[in-house]
Amino acid sequence: MSRILLASRNAKKLAELRRIMAGADVEVVGLDDVPAYDEVPEDGATFADNALLKAREAVRHTGIAAIADDSGICVDALNGMPGIFSARWCGRHGDDAANNALLLAQLQDVPDERLTAHFTCAAAYVGTDGREVVAHGEMTGRLRREPSGSGGFGYDPLFQPDGKSVTAAELPPAEKDAISHRGQAMRELARRIAPYL
Ligand code: IMP
Repeated sequence: MSRILLASRNAKKLAELRRIMAGADVEVVGLDDVPAYDEVPEDGATFADNALLKAREAVRHTGIAAIADDSGICVDALNGMPGIFSARWCGRHGDDAANNALLLAQLQDVPDERLTAHFTCAAAYVGTDGREVVAHGEMTGRLRREPSGSGGFGYDPLFQPDGKSVTAAELPPAEKDAISHRGQAMRELARRIAPYL
């Protein structure tokens, strides 16, 4: 059975990719399953750049074919920002509460009808032969003025996906996976790399 490395320490992402790849004859491992290496700064200009950076580094250090993803929220009234800066919008990496508070403050004077946004995800595969495949996924919706729900992570409590009456933080995980930018990108990537595994 071949192995594929998800260049992430996020247990939920690993479990999700394992579910998506369940039909393929491949063992999916994470960064905690391989010897540690210095991870690269995510300094690409696009989600795809950053996903490729992480996947290339993973292959270079481990010799295992790798998948990496990069994602974020793009707010129309902010010309697509926070975008690739989503995780560190408030100036610190990964402070969800501060990121959400800053985003709400920036949108204070924006009328309700212009609170549209989407999450984007780029998922990249890099093979040991240098083959590169990138897939994209998107989840459209709108921002609420106040957070709601305790599930999910990041901007989920502020984001109401199109066609839903609750925020992404109030959706059961399987329901979010089914419509999420990451779910779509990973499923598309899995389909496209199936011939190479
Ligand atoms: P990463 O691609 O996992 O590093 O995510 C980048 C950042 O984008 C996260 O820290 C979150 O702030 C935001 N983000 C990405 N995907 C989601 C999501 O599904 N829900 C909420 N926030 C997300």
